[in-house]
Amino acid sequence: MPTEFEPIIGLEIHAQLLTRTKIFCGCSTKFGAPPNTHGCPVCLGLPGALPVLNRSAVELGIRAAIALDCHIELESVFARKNYFYPDLPKGYQISQYELPLATGGHLSLPESGTDVGITRIHLEEDAGKSLHEGFPDSDLKSHVDFNRSGVPLIEVVTEPDMRSPTDAKVFFATLREILVSLAVNDGNMEEGSLRCDANVSVRPVGQSALGIKSEVKNLNSFRFLERAIEYEINRQIDVLKNGEQITQETRLWDASADRTLMMRSKEEAHDYRYFPEPDLPLLRITEDWVNEVRRSLPELPSARRVRLMADYGLTSKQVEQLTRVRPSLATYFEEVVEAGAPPKVAINWSLGELTRKLNEEQTDQVKVIRQRMPPVALAKLIRLVDRGTISGTIAKEVFEKMYITGESAEVIVEQDGLAQIDSVEMLAGTVNEVLKQHHDAVAQYQSGKSGAIGFLVGQVMKATRGKANPKLVNELLRKAIDR
Ligand code: ADP
Ligand code: ZN
Ligand code: MG
Repeated sequence: MPTEFEPIIGLEIHAQLLTRTKIFCGCSTKFGAPPNTHGCPVCLGLPGALPVLNRSAVELGIRAAIALDCHIELESVFARKNYFYPDLPKGYQISQYELPLATGGHLSLPESGTDVGITRIHLEEDAGKSLHEGFPDSDLKSHVDFNRSGVPLIEVVTEPDMRSPTDAKVFFATLREILVSLAVNDGNMEEGSLRCDANVSVRPVGQSALGIKSEVKNLNSFRFLERAIEYEINRQIDVLKNGEQITQETRLWDASADRTLMMRSKEEAHDYRYFPEPDLPLLRITEDWVNEVRRSLPELPSARRVRLMADYGLTSKQVEQLTRVRPSLATYFEEVVEAGAPPKVAINWSLGELTRKLNEEQTDQVKVIRQRMPPVALAKLIRLVDRGTISGTIAKEVFEKMYITGESAEVIVEQDGLAQIDSVEMLAGTVNEVLKQHHDAVAQYQSGKSGAIGFLVGQVMKATRGKANPKLVNELLRKAIDR
């Protein structure tokens, strides 16, 4: 019987902390500045410069650790990780090694419910960025930009608890959502503020010992993460089926070739000659501080999803659409309901017109919409429909006008004479006119094609510029024809 293999995956995620300044100096962390304009003796590694720890970086690390159910270590230690690379000016990275900020957390994945253990979260500084392309002399030289050197990061290390590329993708997406919702990280993978390395091994089904793993670097999108893991699993299974051994190595994802490439054989911890950072004291965190951070945490995305379903009777799909891409849309929705709109209607507007507007404005920033269309104003518009003052179709028109002019729904309806026409007297003339002009449709209806009535209703709606009450129009048409 051919051997079946089972994949095992553990992730290491680097997330840039949303501080204003770097982790050990006062230089700006702002992305996109001209190369080498955010530097000082500390982050450029000049001799004699001393690091001073940024308190906000620690606080953001604590936030993440609490959200991931970790044990916060009240004493942790910074360590030097020594290696040589041109983008590492000190010749070592300040990180945490034996005693990290937090340990032993977990995150359960939506849908599958897989519980992924969090081994540790530690604080560290980022390196600079080597630029190998895009210069006239790129074939001869590499360039380096130190703006990123010393930017604060947390590294989140998971247990090898994931069993499929999808598990890994869902974990990364869920972690990203949490970090973004806590304002710990901006979630921007393209700019490199959130990066993921995947450790992958396979083992024969039924074997309890883990197989030898490879580590794939450079995975800066959900798709690449999934594809790279898929590729690694198949590559390793092929190697084993050929009777060969997996070698522990670091590999690189090559997106253009859709495959992973060997980068180097795996370095061991002792290669880095870790030792405690002599220029920084023990990092001490008080229980009080942890409790204070805990109290200040906003509702986590998973808890919020459960509450939105329970409080407003939304389906899981609606909640998904409301929270996944733009969590602030859910806040907006809740405020519309708070201002008096029925949830069932408010959700349709949120996922319909508002989402359309956001796409039109090409933004995920609900605040852009909020300025022109405060939740209270939309709630008033919804109430006009609810009361039958205007039709649903007209409401969309009013919405557009409100958005452009900033006027209230009532004022626009009044000024433009958009109130629904639902008196028999006011509609009778138009109904007769339409019947006269469309003998064909009338005949069709009479010969049993009941669908023809829809066409006639449409004609009346058109003639009244959408203001007629369609239900009443339908009634009047049937009565007139049947007479
Ligand atoms: P290293 O010695 O390479 O630093 P660690 O044991 O510290 O390895 O684990 C690093 C990451 O690799 C963690 O996310 C862990 O879950 C994952 N990992 C460890 N062993 C395996 C394995 N055999 N297969 C898949 N992932 C693994
Ligand atoms: Zn600096
Ligand atoms: Mg390790």
